Amino acid sequence: MSRYTGAVCKICRREGMKLFLKGERCFTDKCAIEQREYPPGQHGQGRVRATEYRVHLREKQKVRSTYGVSEAQFRRYYDMAKRKKGVTGEQLLQLLERRLDNIVYRLGFAPSRNGARQLISHGHIRVNGHKVNVPSFLINAGDEVEVKEKSKKLEAIGVSLENREQRGFHDWLEVDKDARKGRVKALPERKDMPATIQETLIIEYYSK
Ligand code: SF4
Repeated sequence: MSRYTGAVCKICRREGMKLFLKGERCFTDKCAIEQREYPPGQHGQGRVRATEYRVHLREKQKVRSTYGVSEAQFRRYYDMAKRKKGVTGEQLLQLLERRLDNIVYRLGFAPSRNGARQLISHGHIRVNGHKVNVPSFLINAGDEVEVKEKSKKLEAIGVSLENREQRGFHDWLEVDKDARKGRVKALPERKDMPATIQETLIIEYYSK
C-alpha cells in the first residue's frame, strides 16, 4: 500500500488531536487543529456514531499515521509484537519507536518523521558507522546514529536540533548536538512512549 500523500493536517483533524506531522508548524498557531478542531469534509461538523469498532479503528489509524507506516507494515509489526515475550501492545509501540526514521526524528536531526525519512533515503544517515537508507531499519540498544560527515553542516539539521533541544530530548537517548550524533542508551519502556496512545484498543482491533 502506498503512503498517504494528501494534506497531512487533515489526518490530525480526522483524529481530533495533534499528531505532529508537520514539524515546527505544529507548535505554532498556524496548526490546523488550533484553527478548526473538527473533522475535514462536507459532513465534518455532523455527529458521528462512536461504535466500538470505530473507536478501535480510529486508535489504530491514529498511531499508524503518527509513525507514518502503511497498513501492511503496521500489521507486520503487530504480528511481530504478538510473537515477542511481554505485553503485545507495549511490544508493538516499542517496534514503532525503534524504526530509524523515528529515532532520527527523536534525536532532533529532522523536525518530523517525514523529514527524517527523507534524510535517511537521501543517504545522510549512518548507523554504527554504516550508511543505512531504509527508514524502517530497526535500531537496537547501544546503536549509534549520526549524520554523515559531509551533511553535518546542513542548516536544516542545525535548526531542527536547536528546536528539539528547547523541547528536551528523551531520557533513553543520548545526543551530542555539535557532533550531530546520538546513541540509543536503552530501548524505550512504556513510560517513555506517548501517553495519549491506548494500545489495548489496537490489539483488540486486530484480535477480532
Ligand atoms: Fe497536525 Fe501539525 Fe498540521 Fe497541526 S500543523 S494539524 S499538529 S500536522
